[in-house]
Amino acid sequence: MQLLAGRKTRTEHPEFEGRGAALQGPLLSLRNVSRRFVTSRHNTTALDDVSLDINAGEFVCVVGPSGCGKSTLLNLVAGLDRPTAGEMLFDGRPLKGAAADRVVVFQEAALYPWLNVRANVEFGLKMKHVSGSKRRELVDQYLELVNLSGFQKAFVHELSGGMKQRVQLARALAVEPRMLLMDEPFAALDAQTRDVLQAELQEIWQRTGSTILFITHNVREAALLGDRVIVMTPSPGRFKSEIPVPLKRPRDPDTHAVVDFAAEIRTQLQHDEYPVRAKDSGYVI
Ligand code: ADP
Repeated sequence: MQLLAGRKTRTEHPEFEGRGAALQGPLLSLRNVSRRFVTSRHNTTALDDVSLDINAGEFVCVVGPSGCGKSTLLNLVAGLDRPTAGEMLFDGRPLKGAAADRVVVFQEAALYPWLNVRANVEFGLKMKHVSGSKRRELVDQYLELVNLSGFQKAFVHELSGGMKQRVQLARALAVEPRMLLMDEPFAALDAQTRDVLQAELQEIWQRTGSTILFITHNVREAALLGDRVIVMTPSPGRFKSEIPVPLKRPRDPDTHAVVDFAAEIRTQLQHDEYPVRAKDSGYVI
């Protein structure tokens, strides 16, 4: 698996400086990782001997059909599960269990309905024992970043699906994790809202220098957002190829460059090792 050079810190926004600061080695390193599930009825190799390095500041997308092991991969990196073989390093140290340096953003925003937007974003900071004044500063900063400054007192039931995802993103970013793990975060949104949030995520990533591992079914989303795209195949779950995305940012999903790149990723998914036609497989192209 080839490495790309680490991204630079985005200097034009000093409030976020240092988030993508270059390390000596990769931020995340998976070496020959496998995860096998053994039940009374099935033995499933959800991940088979996968290796991956992600540098600080990179945006890496993973695409693949349902059941190819994407969620298993994300759960392992989140520390919610353990591999049955192989080694996982985070910042050069063995990755053991969940920690605040890796935060997951889910498809369905798991917000607390009894708390308003501000308190939802503040929640993780309280858990980290961040002082009240610093909490106020961070909540203001990240709600502004996700364009929700005017909705601090709104409750979850008053928000649209897109706004809920913005709150979830602000809550994740506010604890300033080393890596953001995004599991199909826009898949349940309507197309227009998804377009807006994809554009906002690009901008947020460029401003903050975050490191993102992003799971998606949507090949155009992968072409739009990724520095590189990992294509997975199922049964057993493997990394089939890694495609660097050399397109300039910010990217527009409707340009020929992005559409053509999405077609290239789709071709990888349609290769004879995995002979399922994209239109039959649930991919959005
Ligand atoms: P994806 O996210 O790509 O849809 P998953 O990682 O959820 O795929 O699943 C990969 C494979 O591992 C599937 O065959 C799934 O049934 C199996 N699997 C996932 N989690 C478990 C589990 N806890 N027990 C048994 N099998 C599992």
